[in-house]
Amino acid sequence: MTRAILIDKTDDGQSASLTDVTLPALEDGQVAVEVAWSTLNYKDALALTGAAPVVRSFPMVPGIDLSGIVRESRAPSLQPGDRVVLNGWGVGEKHWGGLGERAHLSADWLVKLPDGISLKQAMAIGTAGYTAMLCVMALEAHGLTPASGEVVVTGASGGVGSVAVALLAARGYRVAAVTGRMAEAGYLTGLGANSVLDRAELTGTPRALGKERWAGAVDVAGGVVLANVLSMMAYRGVVAACGLAGGRDLPTTVTPFILRGVTLAGVDSVMCPLPDRLTAWQRLAQELDMSKLEAMVTEVPLAEVPAVAPRFLDGQVRGRIVVPVNPA
Ligand code: NAP
Repeated sequence: MTRAILIDKTDDGQSASLTDVTLPALEDGQVAVEVAWSTLNYKDALALTGAAPVVRSFPMVPGIDLSGIVRESRAPSLQPGDRVVLNGWGVGEKHWGGLGERAHLSADWLVKLPDGISLKQAMAIGTAGYTAMLCVMALEAHGLTPASGEVVVTGASGGVGSVAVALLAARGYRVAAVTGRMAEAGYLTGLGANSVLDRAELTGTPRALGKERWAGAVDVAGGVVLANVLSMMAYRGVVAACGLAGGRDLPTTVTPFILRGVTLAGVDSVMCPLPDRLTAWQRLAQELDMSKLEAMVTEVPLAEVPAVAPRFLDGQVRGRIVVPVNPA
């Protein structure tokens, strides 16, 4: 038996609570991980509240992320004592996930944690921060450099946005942070943003082309915000699109692509191949200012996770939430 958050669904609806669960038997190729820290991301909130069909089978232990220590291994690549981090691969959706004291996972899904990152920092980063790094990598793969011009980050006070602002600023980019919460302007400049824009500037009906403002963009919003960003990209600008916090539609035209040569680069963290994950985590260890990461973090006990999750859907979470499970 192990303690975990369990989501169940009956004819009366969906429920989530901390309870005792029996993990499936450990199979060849899998390892047993003692979870040190877990976290909450937007997707976990969708799973915990049932606001979107993230969970594919019930009952489900949610949690798309975890960091911890291998306690038992039936795979040659990992040994007891190894510090590991897991992001995605359908964990917390199709496979029991990280919001519990122990998890049985395929060794192929786990990344050995680089030396420069603690187990807590790994979850302060979490899928949100690792995705922010994948976005930076996508922008740079399309030629963006600090000399190209300013980079805009939408949903800047959220998890992906906060880490993206800090990472880009540390790389020497000028960063424009877009937020629906102008009260967080001080927080965003503290992370390294050069300017803070009210999201209301990007929620009007998008024009086919607007003034050329940004060389790069990290977008977590989708919808009308992304459409406005696309219309304001400079010639040959590049946009890394990873989220749908503002909607899954995209009311745009082909004009930014065919007249300005704008690139829309999609970013997926869930099935991202291992070499890119390793690069992302190595770069996070080297480039992310850990004091800035500390400023993003709020701790929430495991038992309080179901009560906190709905705050994501209201856009009320600032930065990153970490969950101490067996903190090390
Ligand atoms: P989060 O912490 O809740 O941040 C989302 C932020 O978006 C909010 O804090 C808010 O920031 C902004 N926002 C809220 N409602 C909005 C609206 N109606 N229009 C525009 N912006 C809005 O969530 P997260 O964990 O950072 O995830 C952000 C998004 O990225 C989610 O859609 C998530 O599913 C997606 N994501 C995708 C991947 C992937 O692999 N592609 C990985 C991680 C996350 P402000 O108040 O500052 O505006």
